[in-house]
Amino acid sequence: MNDDDLLGFTTRALNSSAPGEPVREMPLAEPIYQSATFSFDDMEHFAAVGKSKVSGGYLYSRWANPTVDALARTIAALEGAEAAACYASGMGAIAAVLTSILGRGDHLVAARQLYGGTFGFINRSLLRDGVDTEFVDITDHAAVRAAIRRETKALYCETIGNPMLPVADLASLATIAHEHGFPLIVDATFTPPCLLQPLAYGVDLSIHAATKYLAGHGDVLAGVVSGTQEAIERIRLDNVETGAVLAPWEAWLTLRGVQTLALRLERICRNAESLASMFEEHAGVDRVFYPGLGSHPQHVIAQSLLKRGAGGMMAIELSGGIEAGRRFMERLRIARAAASLGSTHTLVVHPASVTHTQLTRAQREVTGISDGLVRISVGIEDAADLLLDFDQALA
Ligand SMILES: *Cc1c(COP(=O)(O)O)cnc(C)c1O
Repeated sequence: MNDDDLLGFTTRALNSSAPGEPVREMPLAEPIYQSATFSFDDMEHFAAVGKSKVSGGYLYSRWANPTVDALARTIAALEGAEAAACYASGMGAIAAVLTSILGRGDHLVAARQLYGGTFGFINRSLLRDGVDTEFVDITDHAAVRAAIRRETKALYCETIGNPMLPVADLASLATIAHEHGFPLIVDATFTPPCLLQPLAYGVDLSIHAATKYLAGHGDVLAGVVSGTQEAIERIRLDNVETGAVLAPWEAWLTLRGVQTLALRLERICRNAESLASMFEEHAGVDRVFYPGLGSHPQHVIAQSLLKRGAGGMMAIELSGGIEAGRRFMERLRIARAAASLGSTHTLVVHPASVTHTQLTRAQREVTGISDGLVRISVGIEDAADLLLDFDQALA
């Protein structure tokens, strides 16, 4: 007798898709396991997977999901790491790592130039958890050493910092951290793995806001961290309850983005070099901050770390101050005024009138943000169009 004759309409709607044999042919694109939970026909297996939580089998997608794991394996391979873990955003990854390593009474040494969200997390959540932080100029290794205390449990910086693009000397910083027995954690968002593999320089944990270059199209929020199997498993176990996990659909979009990562970065680096050279010659621009230029304070380190290109992030200081900055932004036609970075589109922000208005001018200048500073995330547009657009906006 046919089930159709026995089961009601809705029961059939719920249960008729169960496959017979597994599909033998491999789909070229990764399947999307858009499922919150997984069902079992063997109760011993159910119990075993329930016990293992983050490794070995799938029980519930907050613990592990096959599509998210496919992204984690891909990122680990690109970073040259044993393992990686994915989070719902870059901040989700940063929070997971820092709260896993630091607790009450611990001390953190961190770079002074950091992404605003990270700075806020350290100064609010970590501080409330009883973690004290000293912020230092990460290019001043004597200052880094001087900030270390008996309670220091980690050193944290960005491979290229926000917003003035200081470049961290990863091998020297890793040596300092390891001499004192704690890890060097870096946010490598500005330097995707086709340009730089931080772990090769002794970095212990490499974090990316995959929202930016890895996903690459401005349509996803995601975060990843790479490191040893042991370190990653511990971070995941510590965060099974906090829930900032990546969704399968966002993992799939990031996997698709990663396929063209190196191709996009080739174009982005070439566009950035052309723009940086143009700005350096331009009368309307006082200063250009780009690690690929000989005038950048850490150019030598940048050259040794970034052999395939200095990335797509740069900052320029316009001659006319805050009003010039605002007018410049309004006159751009191809580059877009928008927060975020690492997209196919060229994105431009003017910190003094948008992202840092809560600071006084004096406070802004301490962090290096002058009234005329504009930060540019170079995209994949045709170089000639970008050059013309910036040139007409500067006129
Ligand atoms: C955007 C960004 C983050 C945060 O990533 P989200 O996905 O927005 O949470 C962290 N670090 C850097 C350097 C970033 O640019």
